[in-house]
Amino acid sequence: MFTEAEGKSLLSAFGIDTPQGVEVEVGQELPDHLREPLVVKAISATLVHKSDAGGVRVGVTRAEIDEVAAQMRESLAAAGHELEGLLVEEMIPAGHEIIVGAVRAPGLGWTVMVGLGGILVEVFEDVAFGLAPLNESQILDMLHELRGMKVLEGARGGIKADIPALVSLISNLAGPEGLLASLPEDVQEIDLNPIIVSDTRAVAVDARFVVNRTAVEASGSAAAGARTEVGDFTPLFHPRRIAVLGASGKRPNMANRFIQNMIANGFDGTIVPVNPTTAVIEGLPAIASLAELTEPIDYAFVALPGARVADALRAGAGKVRFAQVVSSGFGEVEEGIELEAALVATVREAGIRLIGPNCLGTHASAGKLSFVPQAPLTPGTTAVVSQSGGLSVDILRVGASSGIDFHSVVSIGNSADVSAAELVASHLANDEVQVIGLYLESLSIAREVLDVLENSETRKPVVLLAGGRTAEGSRAATSHTGALAGNHRLWPAIARQAGMTLVDSLAEFATALHALSTLDLSVATNGREAVLFGNGGGASVLGADALDRQGVGTSPLPDSVIAALESLELPPGNGFHNPIDVPAGTLAVKNGAVAGDILKTVLAGSSPALLISHLNVGIIQRNLGATHGDVTGNIIDSIAEARDASAPGTHQLLVLKTDGSAETGEMIEAYAKRARAIGIPVFPAFEDAALAARAVLEQSRATHTGANGTEGR
Ligand code: ADP
Ligand code: MG
Repeated sequence: MFTEAEGKSLLSAFGIDTPQGVEVEVGQELPDHLREPLVVKAISATLVHKSDAGGVRVGVTRAEIDEVAAQMRESLAAAGHELEGLLVEEMIPAGHEIIVGAVRAPGLGWTVMVGLGGILVEVFEDVAFGLAPLNESQILDMLHELRGMKVLEGARGGIKADIPALVSLISNLAGPEGLLASLPEDVQEIDLNPIIVSDTRAVAVDARFVVNRTAVEASGSAAAGARTEVGDFTPLFHPRRIAVLGASGKRPNMANRFIQNMIANGFDGTIVPVNPTTAVIEGLPAIASLAELTEPIDYAFVALPGARVADALRAGAGKVRFAQVVSSGFGEVEEGIELEAALVATVREAGIRLIGPNCLGTHASAGKLSFVPQAPLTPGTTAVVSQSGGLSVDILRVGASSGIDFHSVVSIGNSADVSAAELVASHLANDEVQVIGLYLESLSIAREVLDVLENSETRKPVVLLAGGRTAEGSRAATSHTGALAGNHRLWPAIARQAGMTLVDSLAEFATALHALSTLDLSVATNGREAVLFGNGGGASVLGADALDRQGVGTSPLPDSVIAALESLELPPGNGFHNPIDVPAGTLAVKNGAVAGDILKTVLAGSSPALLISHLNVGIIQRNLGATHGDVTGNIIDSIAEARDASAPGTHQLLVLKTDGSAETGEMIEAYAKRARAIGIPVFPAFEDAALAARAVLEQSRATHTGANGTEGR
């Protein structure tokens, strides 16, 4: 541990404001420049929390110092510490007490925390995290995540904190040129607790640096050997020649099933089984080893026992572009770590890019490559990278039924060579991909993705489903910051900083990806407000509630719009404030095309971020079908028509609610297809549309300002 005075002089060297102060021996004369009132702090090598042992006195005069020192010596002795000297400082006038801390986390670098001091941190744990280096707008984002931010802004007549001074203090600590970046490896934790923020300055009045030599060795060689350049993934996503290693002539296994699936999926390139003892596999002529290849292979599916993989691939040196090793028993288990290192060395020497090991496969719609039986192969623009193999199958299936057409789903397993970050970089550069979905379980992998996104000129919507968000502290930490730096805080921090939408479940993942891949986000979205339109008063109210929970507002429409809606002279019973709530009688007007008049009127007089229509399909069609025909279909067409007739920047979402009957379910499925085909995402319930609304607003902000953008909020 540094002494407090050493820590503070380091802080001031980096432009961080600290109180004037001196270290003195007990009884020693004070220099003249220190102005009263003073603060006296005990110096003692064994003392960590000074005030707990009576080691801090505020509001002291020069004349009182000797007496204060004597009392301190006594109370320290009672707590088992020896008073070695005094730190005497000027007392900083009252302000808000803020805690700022930083802790090194393995694979993440410095994680930085900010919180409001006292009860808000201690009891409510109202803190926000970020990952250094942090720019000023990211620091502001962190502050705005605090529930206590209103207190800083001067709520209820309190002091209005000098936020820019606080931001620049944190920036001097955690910015690209900040103190953290220059600290030696053995400094593991820092607590600046508190920083006193008044209306004119932000001063660090306490500084604790925790030094730990053993931790350095533990986190030493974390990111060794990572690649920086991005490979060409065309052979992976559009393979023409595929080799399969591990298929059997006798006992069909995973590799046999892969071949069967590829044939059933209609793959029209060449499949080359590789087997040293069998000449024909799944009806296809086999070769004994990759060494026999006369033409290169784009993609090799490898399901051999782990110990045989490296030799088998070495034989394909220079002839195989991508090898996906699904076999397990590598780095995911202690005894496989060396085997994995040897495999990586082999493929690097052989010029083969490795995906996996310990994964399930790759799905690429346009290339008709899939490891999944009856895979949904309609080519789309959504690309997913998944750390879990099993979940990647669920993502494909649930995603397809939610209306997503995939560009690709790659299960990366241990990602010993091709990493999630490299795939994201390649997707950002690939025009075939418009939206990226990630399932990750490792914070350090997420950190690599964050770096790619922050450094990329191109931005695309990114949705993150994170596994392992427990509230456990990261490790036995001695600082406040360390104790609070649990995974459940670091995932949201990474997501916020990278501009990724963080979701909690597979269903939410599919919902967000469906919305983002269906809508056109190329134009910046208008604000953060939604207008609701549909039938069912209670349903509209619940819809507004669901939006509110996702941070999306539903303010009343301007009077001029309400007046314009009234002048449409519709049948009685409508509510024209937001939500716009209309009975079936109104929806029957023009066989449903009245929806176009209503929505165009709304869009002519206001510019919401989202226009969310919700329809009770069963009721509408049962009541109106016989007399007015395809009312629901006409409404759907009218929504698209209103969209196309108005300025961009408002996104149309549609909720098609079921009444639980199978018949309605079938109708909804058909209507959903129709709506999606014309660029309107469809959701089964308002809660889903609300989640999608949040994703749209977050991703519109991220893609139009950059993750570290300067506008927004
Ligand atoms: P501890 O080791 O107990 O955390 P601190 O140095 O943080 O000791 O001091 C305890 C409290 O005293 C602080 O939380 C702050 O409220 C107050 N304090 C300490 N130094 C100063 C100062 N220079 N000016 C004003 N208040 C101070
Ligand atoms: Mg303190």
